[in-house]
Amino acid sequence: MSVLILNGKEVAKSVKEKVRQEVLQLKEKGIHPGLVVVLVGEDPASQVYVRNKAKACTQLGIFSETITLPKDISQRELNTMIDKLNEDPKFHGILVQMPLPGHLNSSEIIHRIHPEKDVDCFHPENVGRLVLGEEGFLPCTPAGIMEILKYYDISLQGKHVVVVGRSNIVGKPMINMLYQKNKHANATATICHTGTKDLGAVTRLADILIVAAGVPEMVTGDMIKPGAVVIDVGVNRVEDPGSEKGYRLTGDVLFEEAEKVVSAITPVPGGVGLMTIAMLMVNTVKAAKYLNG
Ligand code: NAP
Repeated sequence: MSVLILNGKEVAKSVKEKVRQEVLQLKEKGIHPGLVVVLVGEDPASQVYVRNKAKACTQLGIFSETITLPKDISQRELNTMIDKLNEDPKFHGILVQMPLPGHLNSSEIIHRIHPEKDVDCFHPENVGRLVLGEEGFLPCTPAGIMEILKYYDISLQGKHVVVVGRSNIVGKPMINMLYQKNKHANATATICHTGTKDLGAVTRLADILIVAAGVPEMVTGDMIKPGAVVIDVGVNRVEDPGSEKGYRLTGDVLFEEAEKVVSAITPVPGGVGLMTIAMLMVNTVKAAKYLNG
């Protein structure tokens, strides 16, 4: 069976092109979408993510600013900064790069960002809208997965979709998008986690299997139903003394085994990862529209 490789780069490019056009139209109306990214501390991985977000904004004509704060900033100071950004009309979207240093309360920060500027879609009000199927922001990684499925015309209607992982940023919002009664969803959705007994018995039922566990190559070929579509969200660094950097990136799915079983699969890298920033750009433009009526 030939396997379709779901190319996140291609899908992200098409999404970004639409965003670029929308930004041009908004600018004609005097609206210049703006995103501010707040980075606390000097975590190297976070610095890379933040740089990539700023780069994407520049490419698409979105105004962006990165505010770098010392790692020992107090909760009160950070709260004050968020309050100021909530009031600043230059910024339609506010993103605080996670994880925050341990002494800071991330939940307090998430609650503090104005829901209309919450382009990560972490605020309880936006999560509530998502669950209710109301119009609003969609969290970037799950929205990116929906976009990949749409791009490749992989229908979710009546399919059994199994999600491995129940994090607030991937698994939980993902499951809530899958079962919605609309033409892009309407799936039967099951969520698995470390409390799931016999994970393989559940994953083998999936027509579409979405894995976001953060465990390198944990899903092996025998855990996948023949012909299934597999979306691998995992991005894990594993030691690889033979490679130039001394490590390689791998997903949560053992690709070499999976590709012999599936009908379609996202690669790592080159799959879901590239969609997250593209969807952040979509949300920033959405925020600019909301805030301008
Ligand atoms: P997380 O917060 O660590 O959550 C992992 C989830 O997987 C938890 O719900 C955990 O269950 C479950 N899990 C872990 N081991 C399991 C096992 N052996 N069997 C069943 N369930 C298991 O991770 P996350 O933030 O969702 O990220 C998951 C992966 O996606 C990571 O590799 C991350 O780097 C990647 N990621 C990629 C993107 C992207 O843009 N591509 C975005 C976000 C995340 P419990 O709840 O029971 O502990």
